[in-house]
Amino acid sequence: MEGRAVAVTTETPLQPSPLRPYRLAHRPARPAGSTIDVGGVTFGAGQVVVMAGPCAVESRDQLLRTAREVCAAGARVLRGGAFKPRTSPYDFQGLGREALDLLAEARAETGLLIVTEVLDSADVDLVARYADILQIGSRNMSAFRLLQRVAETGKPVLLKRGFQATVREWLLSAEYILAHGNQRVLLCERGIRTFDAEFTRNTLDLNVVPVLRQETHLPVIVDPSHGTGRADLVPTMARAAIAAGADGLLIEVHHDPAAALSDVTQQLSTEVFTALMDDLRGLGRYLGRPVA
Ligand code: PEP
Ligand code: MN
Repeated sequence: MEGRAVAVTTETPLQPSPLRPYRLAHRPARPAGSTIDVGGVTFGAGQVVVMAGPCAVESRDQLLRTAREVCAAGARVLRGGAFKPRTSPYDFQGLGREALDLLAEARAETGLLIVTEVLDSADVDLVARYADILQIGSRNMSAFRLLQRVAETGKPVLLKRGFQATVREWLLSAEYILAHGNQRVLLCERGIRTFDAEFTRNTLDLNVVPVLRQETHLPVIVDPSHGTGRADLVPTMARAAIAAGADGLLIEVHHDPAAALSDVTQQLSTEVFTALMDDLRGLGRYLGRPVA
């Protein structure tokens, strides 16, 4: 099944800034900020967009149950990995093409848009036929040929920060996508590796939210699931991300978290996610930045 048609609705042409090496990503290239519309869901226009779903697509039952619940709770985009970048070659690698068909089925049933990772240049055309938003994972932030290939699809790209990448390196990776003619780039902070991983998997760098707001016109998404690695910390850091000014959240949710085949410690149950969404809506109203 084809991904939805996407359109950038409110964009003015980029005016390259001479002040930074990332001249198209730099804020002065579009001082008012980029507003990116994906099938009726708008990023960067003042509201907060929540993307949620399992780390990996594991089965039809798992995906459809989770999709229905995150949709009912108010998420607008369904996440779910079909191709998984696992540290160990012996770990679950994702269902591949079968998962893409399941994501398409979940989209058809719920109306949620789909964000899913593309790991390899060889899979770009396949994944782009299904996804509404192509995710570039942390481990591939500097895979420049892959960035070029995803740029050429014209699909919006969720560009995760490399876990060892500086803000400058991250923005230069975004620049690869912009320079190859694709302006639909969402930056996603997902935690960086620091000296202390005793209590959290990564260090969620919320400093970058206000830094990026100044430094680039691109929308900023925060992923508190990979950022902490702990389900019990996700609600607090999701609220903190919104308070810091994030344009959206990417949250891992599983209908049976303890049974997850990947990232088992960090997925919220659908019940906890539903309660969190209520909280976030209240916070969004208070801040004047509604949860879309
Ligand atoms: C994911 O979103 O499941 C994922 C693998 O993320 P990251 O690339 O940030 O590790
Ligand atoms: Mn994950």
